[in-house]
Amino acid sequence: MEKLRLAEEPRVNRAGAGCDDGPATAEAGDHATGVHLPGLDHSTGLRSGQKSRYLLRFDDICPTMNWALWRPVETVLLDLNIKPILAVIPDNQDCTLHKGEGNDRFWDCVRKWQYLGWTIGLHGYQHRYITRQGGIVGINRYSEFAGLCRARQDASLRRAVGIFQREGVIPDVWVAPAHSFDEETVGVLHSLGITKISDGYHLYPYRDRQGMMWVPQQLAVFRRIPFGLWTVCVHLDDSPYCHPGYFAHEAARFRSSIVSFNEVISEYSCREKSLPDSMFASCLLRLKRTKAKLSRII
Ligand SMILES: [Zn+2]
Repeated sequence: MEKLRLAEEPRVNRAGAGCDDGPATAEAGDHATGVHLPGLDHSTGLRSGQKSRYLLRFDDICPTMNWALWRPVETVLLDLNIKPILAVIPDNQDCTLHKGEGNDRFWDCVRKWQYLGWTIGLHGYQHRYITRQGGIVGINRYSEFAGLCRARQDASLRRAVGIFQREGVIPDVWVAPAHSFDEETVGVLHSLGITKISDGYHLYPYRDRQGMMWVPQQLAVFRRIPFGLWTVCVHLDDSPYCHPGYFAHEAARFRSSIVSFNEVISEYSCREKSLPDSMFASCLLRLKRTKAKLSRII
């Protein structure tokens, strides 16, 4: 389990819904009808000159997380008015995520974050890896869901959503442990009313034919990149985030380019997947696999 945990998500050291959402929606509609608009990049659905933007995501949020590391980070988020995605584990059973005493007020915190307009992600059910499947994204060959029959996935996800409901929390988006889930998972999520996924290596968000909204997650640290919508996934215990002041420095440096999940959904709600999306995702996946192999050798 420990070995799997180390390689779970990208680590720094090893490393047809409604279309009435405003201007961006209108652009996508023009794209769909083939009407050319000056300055519009039809492969991305964006105006030319639009720079890259970033989403922040924090994984493995659970009662036994490292609260000493979290508290200063939370203060920075509030001070800079950044609305992150928090990937919450409904019933954590992963002992590697026991960083200290469990917080008895954990669900009060989650409700407060959602009240603040932060996005709450459903991060699996118990964060236990029980299969050797990589699923759709294909970066890790272990999963809590990928490879299981639909009935088992349905049962686990209903329990997960049931815990959220019991605690008065709405799951805004799906965040798979280890990026690992498959088509059955997506089908169950859709049946449970969860229609947004934070995963994949494409350049921009898009909505698929099932109506699922895919918002990419590609980075573990901030990097200056001239275009694209980039989700930076933070694991608080990993370097460099465990170093005091690092997160505050980076959050301030990139603040003007950081957007909220709701803003992204609103802007891209009618964008379809493009060929450059698929090509970019394939290249980035290959790059990440190569990097992972090299890190094991060197
Ligand atoms: Zn996780």
